[in-house]
Amino acid sequence: MSKLLVIGCGGVASVAIQKCCQNSGTFTELCIASRTVSKCDALKEKLEGKTSTKITTAQVDADSVEALKALINEYKPDAVLNVALPYQDLTIMDACLACGVDYIDTANYEPEDTDDPEWRAIYEKRCKEEGFTAYFDYSWQWAYQKKFQDAGLTAILGSGFDPGVTSVFSAYALKHYFDEIHTIDILDCNGGDHGYPFATNFNPEINLREVSANGSYWENGHWVETEPMEIHRTYDFPQVGVKDMYLLHHEEIESLAKNIPGVKRIRFFMTFGQSYLTHMKCLENVGMLSTSPVMFEGREIVPIQFLKALLPDPASLGPRTKGKTNIGCIFTGVKDGKEKTIYIYNVCDHQECYKELGSQAISYTTGVPAMIGAALVVNGTWKKPGVFNLEEMDPDPFMEMLNQYGLPWVVDEAPATVE
Ligand code: NDP
Repeated sequence: MSKLLVIGCGGVASVAIQKCCQNSGTFTELCIASRTVSKCDALKEKLEGKTSTKITTAQVDADSVEALKALINEYKPDAVLNVALPYQDLTIMDACLACGVDYIDTANYEPEDTDDPEWRAIYEKRCKEEGFTAYFDYSWQWAYQKKFQDAGLTAILGSGFDPGVTSVFSAYALKHYFDEIHTIDILDCNGGDHGYPFATNFNPEINLREVSANGSYWENGHWVETEPMEIHRTYDFPQVGVKDMYLLHHEEIESLAKNIPGVKRIRFFMTFGQSYLTHMKCLENVGMLSTSPVMFEGREIVPIQFLKALLPDPASLGPRTKGKTNIGCIFTGVKDGKEKTIYIYNVCDHQECYKELGSQAISYTTGVPAMIGAALVVNGTWKKPGVFNLEEMDPDPFMEMLNQYGLPWVVDEAPATVE
């Protein structure tokens, strides 16, 4: 029995909310609040009569702590699930602290305006000290640790697939298969085809920022940074086939390096087709990926936001996307003095997701774990004071719920490894 406030009503939120409604024993009441309230109303209408969860909607500007506080104080939820954008993480965490409610999100903080001089100074210092140049890092949210501890509140960071399920896979591997994990390769394969020459599977601005940035990996206690797409491998993914994949920086590397004792190397690879890479390079070369405003016909526009308006809405890819995703982790390490390797992964079919919830697999694989993270906090299983990444929590109840809510996983004890 709980009341959840969900902020955001995009692709991921739509899945998370529908999954909450399949779990109405836990989520008895739910408020969908976002910038554009008509989207919240449309989703509420779609769900009415199909669930016993009582749904309300609200308009909120999640960039405003005051607006968030007013909404939280009025609705009085047990927890807030943030599935808006990473730009809103800190304002929502501040509002949760002020109102005394727990917090769950799916992506770590990054600023909307990377030209902001105050943020830039901190960023440049961090690049020098830590050795990676991604715009996002956990320092901003980890800085809330004491505040959440003192308030007796829980903040769960990154309850999507990667981070999220990959973090839980790591904790599960350590708990059940290894005495010590030495290497983790996170492999994110999207074998889906939507038929467009170019489209992104989730928010274009966040997606394109991530893949056009320098790559990096963790090795022997420090970051090694690469040029964008510099490290290329191929892998034969179960149920998908052979795909090209490229090493990217990814946020869970930072937390796993801190939380998996003795780990020597952590890498993250994502598959991309040649057409995607060619389009992205071209858009980058002409300045369309820039987040810095430019003047156009007397008004200021941000190139990447204008590009977002031109690209297909990720939520509209569902009916067109065919094929499967395969996301998981290959672990090497030792158990009882013997070396071993395992691969834990999930395969998700785009068309099956669409049939069930009207979404493609990328939103599905993020929205399901967002619901699970929220469920484990509100039902008390993962409730403890502080700010946590998912690998810090008991993985077993989460793994069980993945099987129950549409993301079954496989443990392969003799997988091919990545060179
Ligand atoms: P969308 O762009 O589809 O949805 C974002 C939603 O947030 C929209 O409803 C938008 O409102 C709303 N929003 C944006 N700004 C504000 C604001 N200031 N106030 C209130 N609402 C706001 O994004 P996705 O659903 O694709 O992604 C959601 C989150 O999931 C992102 O943080 C993304 O990084 C994360 N993600 C995590 C993954 C993981 O595996 N961990 C994988 C994929 C995504 P409006 O409708 O008005 O635009």
